[in-house]
Amino acid sequence: MNFEAINEHRKTFPSKEQVIKQTPDPGVRQMLTHLDKAGIATAFDRFDAQKPHCAFGLAGTCCRICNMGPCKITEKSPKGVCGADAHVIVARNILRWVAAGVASHGSRGREVLLTLKKAASGELPLPLLGQEKIVATAKAFGIYREDKTVAQLAEQLADLLLEDMSRAVPATHRTIAAMAPPERVETWSELDIIPLGSYHEVFEALHRTGTGTDGDWENLMKQLLRCGLAFSWNSVLGSSIAADCLYGPPKRSYIETNFASIKAEYVNIALHGHSPVMPSALVQASREPELIELAKAQGAAGIRLYGICCSGLSSLYRYGEVHPLSNALGAELIMGTGALDAWVADLQDIFPGIMDVAACFHTKVITTSDSCRLPGAIHIAFDHHHANMEQILDKAKDIVKLAITNYPARQQGNVYIPEVSLEAEVGFSVENITQAFGSLDELAALIKAGKIKGIVNLVGCNNPKVVYEQAVVQVADTLLANDILVLTNGCASFPLLKLGYCTQKALTKAGPGLKEVLGARKLPPVWHMGECLDNARASGLFRALADKCGQPLTQMPFAFASPEWSNEKGVGAALSFRLMGLNSYHCIPAPVLGSDKVAGFFAHGTQELLGSVMVVVPEPTALGQRISADFEQRRNHAAWNSK
Ligand code: SF4
Repeated sequence: MNFEAINEHRKTFPSKEQVIKQTPDPGVRQMLTHLDKAGIATAFDRFDAQKPHCAFGLAGTCCRICNMGPCKITEKSPKGVCGADAHVIVARNILRWVAAGVASHGSRGREVLLTLKKAASGELPLPLLGQEKIVATAKAFGIYREDKTVAQLAEQLADLLLEDMSRAVPATHRTIAAMAPPERVETWSELDIIPLGSYHEVFEALHRTGTGTDGDWENLMKQLLRCGLAFSWNSVLGSSIAADCLYGPPKRSYIETNFASIKAEYVNIALHGHSPVMPSALVQASREPELIELAKAQGAAGIRLYGICCSGLSSLYRYGEVHPLSNALGAELIMGTGALDAWVADLQDIFPGIMDVAACFHTKVITTSDSCRLPGAIHIAFDHHHANMEQILDKAKDIVKLAITNYPARQQGNVYIPEVSLEAEVGFSVENITQAFGSLDELAALIKAGKIKGIVNLVGCNNPKVVYEQAVVQVADTLLANDILVLTNGCASFPLLKLGYCTQKALTKAGPGLKEVLGARKLPPVWHMGECLDNARASGLFRALADKCGQPLTQMPFAFASPEWSNEKGVGAALSFRLMGLNSYHCIPAPVLGSDKVAGFFAHGTQELLGSVMVVVPEPTALGQRISADFEQRRNHAAWNSK
C-alpha cells in the first residue's frame, strides 16, 4: 500500500467549519450554523471525530473475514494468517460491497414486485396505474396476448421478474434477453458473466469471499462483474419496471423545494428512504378529506409532505405534492428545523443519527419496514413476510393521524426554517423526452451535430470526504458550459434541484449549443429523472439514443458520474454503467488502492473487456473537463466533429 498517497488523501477531507463556509446551498450553511450554536451534532461533527481515518480501511487492506484476524497488509506482514495477499483481500472487500448493493436495491425491488403481484391478483386494494407500461413490457418480454386482461399480464410480469431475481436453477435471464443490446449480451456471454439472478450472485459472492475459498483476485473480479449485471438488470431495472406498472410513469411538473417550502402552519410529514410502497399510500391518506378536517381541527392549515432521499422523489414525480428537501447526508438538517410532526422512515440511507436530532424536538419517527428499525421510533410496518400488506391504507392513515395529533406538541419557538426556496422541474422519462423532441431521432441528430456534445448521468450519494454538495455543483457547471446535457436522480440531484439547475433560468450556465436547442423547447439543462432506481431511465435513454445513432454504447459520448459517492449501492451503480460500455467518473477513490492489480483493473483493465473504465479525478472542475475531453475523443472517433 502506498501510505504516502493515502495520507495525502486523508489530509484533503474537509472539516465541518470548511463545509459551513463552502457548501453551495445557503440554506445548508445557515442550518449547520444554527445547529452548531444549539449544540446539536450531525454527520459532519461525527465525521470530524473519526479523523484520522484508518489507512488500512481506506486502502482496502484490512480483512475481518475470519476470527484468525483481523489481518492488515504491511511491509512486515504482506499476507494474512490464511495466506491471502493484498490483491485477494482488496478484491474480496470490494466484491462484498457490490453484493451488498445488489441486495439493497433488490430487497426493496422485491417489495415493489410483491405489491404489483398482490395488486394484480386483487389481494391488495391498489389500482394498476401504469397500464400502458404493463402492455409495452409484456410485449417486450414476448408474453402479451390479446385475450389476457392487463391485470393478468401484470401478475405474469411480476412472476417473471421475481423469477429472474431469485433463480437458482440455471436458465435464460429473461430481462437481459428481452432488453439488453445484443452487442452487450455477446460481450457478457464471452466473459461468462451473465448472472443467474440477484439472489444467487449475492449468495455466491458471499460464498467465494469466505475464508479459504476464492484465492484468485481475477476470479473475484469476474464475480464482481456478474454482480454488477445482477445489480442493473434485476435489482434496478426489474424494480423500476414494477414501480411504473403499479404507480404509473413519471409526469413532468414543477415543485417548490428547499427549507422554505416547509410551511410552519401545516401538519408536516417527511418521507425518508427508498421504497415507494408506503409513501404512495401516505400521499393517498394525506388527501383524505376526514384527515384534512382533523388537521384543521387541531389548528393547522392542512397536511404537507416532504421528501428526504429517494422515497420522496419517487412519490413526487408521480403525484406532485411531495416537496424535495434533502439527500440522506443532510437529513439531520431538515429534522433540525423542529417543524416536522412525523418522520416516516422506510429503508436504506436512514442514518441512526436522525434519532438523536429527533430527540431534541417533538418530531415522532415512524419506521415502516421490518428491515429497518430504530430504537425510540414507533413501528407501524409490514411484517417480515409482507403478510399484512392488505392493511397498507389503514397503516398510512394511522401514520397521518399520528402526525396530526402530534402537531399541537410542536414548540413554535424551537422552529427554525432558513428562508431559502426555489422551484424545480421534475419527472423526466424516456417517453416524455421523446415527446419534447418530437422523436428520439431529433435528439440523436442534435448530438451528432454537436449542438449537444454528450449526456452525463450525474448522480450518486454524498460523502463528507468532500465539501457537501460542492463537487456535484462544480461538475454540473463544467459540463453545462461545455454543452453537455445532464441527467440526474437520487441524492446528487438535491443540490441541483435546490440551486435552480432544474429550471430554464439555468440555461445561463449552458454553452451556446445547449442554450439554443433547450431554450427553443423550453427545457432546463438538467433533467431530473427521480430516485436512484431511475438510473434505469437514464440507461434506457442511452440505449435508445445509441440505437438511433447506429453506434455501440462504447462509442457514444455518454457517461455516469457520481462525484461524491459513498455507499455500497454507489459502487454497483457505477459498475453497471461501465458494464454498458460507458466510463464512470468520481472525485473520491474506491478503497482498492492497497492492490495495484485491483486498482489497475478498475482504472484500465476493464477497457479491453468492457470498453470502459473508472476515472477518479479529485478536483471537481478537472473531473468535468476530463469528461468533456473524453467525449471529444469519442466524437472524433465517430467522425461527428468534422461534420
Ligand atoms: S480470512 Fe485470512 S486475511 Fe482475512 S482475517 Fe482471516 S486469516 Fe486474516
